[in-house]
This record gives sequence, structure tokens and C-alpha cells, in this order.
Amino acid sequence: MKRVFDHIDFTIVGHLQSVLEAAGIRTEIRNEGGSGAAGELPFTQVYPELWVLENQDEARARALIKEFRDREHEIPVGPAWTCPACGEEIEGQFAECWNCGAENPL
Ligand SMILES: [Zn+2]
Repeated sequence: MKRVFDHIDFTIVGHLQSVLEAAGIRTEIRNEGGSGAAGELPFTQVYPELWVLENQDEARARALIKEFRDREHEIPVGPAWTCPACGEEIEGQFAECWNCGAENPL
């Protein structure tokens, strides 16, 4: 077994598990809800960890995780918005109204 990922946020670990499982990689999460042990382990932060069961899947799992992490850092495109100054409909990737220069109020 190989540990391929850990993160403070369990939802991200859980999401990556489903990504890997969808690619046919068998996985296991350890330290599920580990932070619940707070009073007992005051100086040790225990993060949920994602493990692959088969060592030969490690490289593929890491590639999938990297792909996911790279995508996560892309700037998200917001929803389309209506300019409060002139009423123009503006696409989500623009922070300012192309018509009058007003800023996206969202
Ligand atoms: Zn405008």
C-alpha cells in the first residue's frame, strides 16, 4: 500500500478517492475524522490520508491527483452578471463592464 495524498479537508480527500476509484484504482482512506481526537492528541494534527492498495497504481494515482490539483488552481469563471450602472449583460470572466467600465458588484 502507498500513501498518495493527505489534506486537512476531508471532502477533498474523499473527492480524490472517487476520482481514483473511477479510474479503476483501489483506494482506502485512513484517519477518517481523525481530528475528532483533539483532546487526546493536542500536538499532533492528524489529516485524512488517501492510500492506494496496489503499489503499481501509485504513479497513475499521483498523476490523477496532480491533474486535479492543477485544475483546482485555475481561476474559476464566475456566473454571467448584469452591470448595475448600464444594465449590460456581462460574461463571467470579465471583472468590469466592457460598456461603461463599472466593476462586477458580486
Ligand atoms: Zn456597464
